Amino acid sequence: MTMTTSWTEAARLIHDAQRVVIVTHQAPDGDAIGSSLGLLYTLRQLGKTVDAAVDGGVPPYLRYLAGADDIAPSLDEGAWDVCISTDSSDEARTGDCGAYARAHSRAVINLDHHITNTGFGDVHLVVPTAVSAAEIAFDWLTNTFGATLSREAAQALLTGMVTDTLGFRTSSVTPRTLEIAQHLMRAGADLTEITARTLDNRSLDTLTLWREALAGFRLEDGVIWAQLPFEAFERNGVAPTTEFGLSEFLIQIDKAMVSVTFKQESDGDIKLSMRAKLGFDVGTVALALGGGGHKQAAGATLRDTTLDAAVAQVIPLLKEAVTRGAQVIR
Ligand code: AMP
Ligand code: MN
Ligand code: MN
Repeated sequence: MTMTTSWTEAARLIHDAQRVVIVTHQAPDGDAIGSSLGLLYTLRQLGKTVDAAVDGGVPPYLRYLAGADDIAPSLDEGAWDVCISTDSSDEARTGDCGAYARAHSRAVINLDHHITNTGFGDVHLVVPTAVSAAEIAFDWLTNTFGATLSREAAQALLTGMVTDTLGFRTSSVTPRTLEIAQHLMRAGADLTEITARTLDNRSLDTLTLWREALAGFRLEDGVIWAQLPFEAFERNGVAPTTEFGLSEFLIQIDKAMVSVTFKQESDGDIKLSMRAKLGFDVGTVALALGGGGHKQAAGATLRDTTLDAAVAQVIPLLKEAVTRGAQVIR
C-alpha cells in the first residue's frame, strides 16, 4: 500500500497536543522499546505529557534502558490528543494496549518501517527503507522538531538500530545508518553496552529450548526448520514467554537459504519466525500467512492448528520461496 509520509503534519499534531501516548507491538524487541523510549524522552523534553505501554511491559533484558519502568504493561485509563504507534505493521500486533490507546486518542500517527504496513492510522511516518523504527524516530525528532537528543534517548534509539540490524550487518544498512549511529554515540549512547545486553546476551532457558528444538532440526531443498511443542516449556521448567530466537542461528547454516522455527505458544497458536539469506524473500510468505515483516526477517502466528499441520502448510511455501530466489552471496 502506498502511503504519504507526512513529517510536518505529524509534527503539527504533536505541537498542538498536550497528552501523547506511545504504543508498540506485542512481544516487543529492541526496536519496539528503543523507538518508544526515544520518542517518550524527547517528547517529554518538549513539554508534553507522555504515557507509553505495551502488553506485558518491557522484557527483562531491555530494562537497562532508562525509563523502561515508564512503559506500562497494561492500559485501562486515560485519554490522549495523539497516539503514536511505533514499529508495528498492523493494529492487531499492538494488542490490548494499542486498541485502548487508539480508541482514546483523537489522532493516530503510524510510525513504522515494515514493507507490509497496512496503512492504519491518520498520519503516516512509514519508511520501508529505514533499518528500524528508531531511525525514523531519529529523523523525525531531529529534522522536523529540531530536538536535541538526551543521552537516554540516544541510548534507546541506538538500541533499536543495533538490534534490528543485528549489529549493522543487514542489507538495509546504508552510510546514512552509520551517520545516525555516529550522531547517537556523540550524544552519549554506548554501543558496547547495547551489544553486550542485546545481541550477545541469551538466557540459559533459551539454550535449554534450543537444545530440545535442535535435536529434531530438518533441512530440505534449502529450507531448514526446527519446532518446539508447547509441552517442552513445562518439561524443561522454562516460562512459555522465554525468548526463542533460533531462526537467526539456523540461517547461518551454509546449505540453508531460508529458515523457520515453529514455536507452539498455546495448544492452538504457533508462532513462526522466518529468516532468509540475501536474494530470498520470506516477507511475502509471512504476509500470505497473515503475518508480516521484511524480505530477510518475517513472522506470523498461525491459529487453531497443530505443529504437524503447520509444518505441512508452511514448508512447501518456503520451498517455493527458495525456488523463486537466487543466492546473492555464496
Ligand atoms: P521475529 O522472527 O519474531 O524476530 O520477527 C521478524 C520480523 O517479522 C520482525 O520485523 C517482526 O516485526 C515481523 N513479524 C513477526 N511476527 C509478525 C506477525 N505476527 N505479524 C506481522 N509481522 C510480524
Ligand atoms: Mn520490532
Ligand atoms: Mn523494527
